Amino acid sequence: MNTTVPAIGYWDHYTTLAATTTLTRLECLWQAWYQWWHHDVVATGLLFFLVHELMYFGRCIPWYIIDRVPYFRRYKIQPDKLPSDAEQWECLKSVLKSHFVVEALPIWLFHPVCRQLKIAVSVPFPAATTVAWQVALFFVLEDMWHYWAHRLFHVGWFYKHIHKQHHRYAAPFGLAAEYAHPVEVMSLGFGTVGFPVIYAALAARYPHWQWPDLHLFTIAVWISLRLWQAVDAHSGYEFPWSLHHFVPFWAGADHHDDHHHYFIGNYASSFRWFDYMLDTESTGASRARRAHRSRTRAEAAVKAKVA
Ligand SMILES: [Zn+2]
Ligand SMILES: [Zn+2]
Repeated sequence: MNTTVPAIGYWDHYTTLAATTTLTRLECLWQAWYQWWHHDVVATGLLFFLVHELMYFGRCIPWYIIDRVPYFRRYKIQPDKLPSDAEQWECLKSVLKSHFVVEALPIWLFHPVCRQLKIAVSVPFPAATTVAWQVALFFVLEDMWHYWAHRLFHVGWFYKHIHKQHHRYAAPFGLAAEYAHPVEVMSLGFGTVGFPVIYAALAARYPHWQWPDLHLFTIAVWISLRLWQAVDAHSGYEFPWSLHHFVPFWAGADHHDDHHHYFIGNYASSFRWFDYMLDTESTGASRARRAHRSRTRAEAAVKAKVA
């Protein structure tokens, strides 16, 4: 007698959930994924690996095409510096190696950490407003971390041995966003993954603060948006419809391209306020003040020598 039970596919789980529950389509897709794998560590690990690959490379493809369409040349910030296919291929190989070697292990450890910190995985998802303000909070905290870590990476030994790799391209392109030394990938990556973990740890440790629970879906949304921000900042294009024209404190490519061009200043990732407040903008008055300061220092040094 044949006792083989027919395997239930992903879409069988999805259609059952869609027919028998009041969950949204997105929640059904999410829940069916966990039911199908029947192994939460694998489900979360693979989900985040795929989110990373799809969001990163998916966002790079339009920029690769735009680089090849002459019409868009008028919007290129450094129009005489188009990345060649050979450069993009080298960059792609390095980024893929980094994804598989450096980031693969932490991604697989993510579910056990979530379990420990009571990060919710089950459906339904939290309210859209909760997702929105938690993501906004992570954007602000990541930007702060990125500013100081990046500024440190421009100091002597750190630049020479770690950050120099990321500055190989004076005119960046989308794919170059994650082209970096493994130490840089891990330390700047902390700004993206570390703050949600700290939030969840504090919420679990101090329940009387009544912070809304953090859901894994919120983290997936946050990581997707952060990846898009990083790729766009390296795109090398400034359009009349770029976000910073409507949200003046948003950084974008206009801000980060200057960092690659001048090597000094514009250390923040998403926002302009840290570089503005701490007088570290790459161009404009900040640049003039830096030049004046170094001139004054050099003149003082010459005077001291003569005396
Ligand atoms: Zn830098
Ligand atoms: Zn960069």
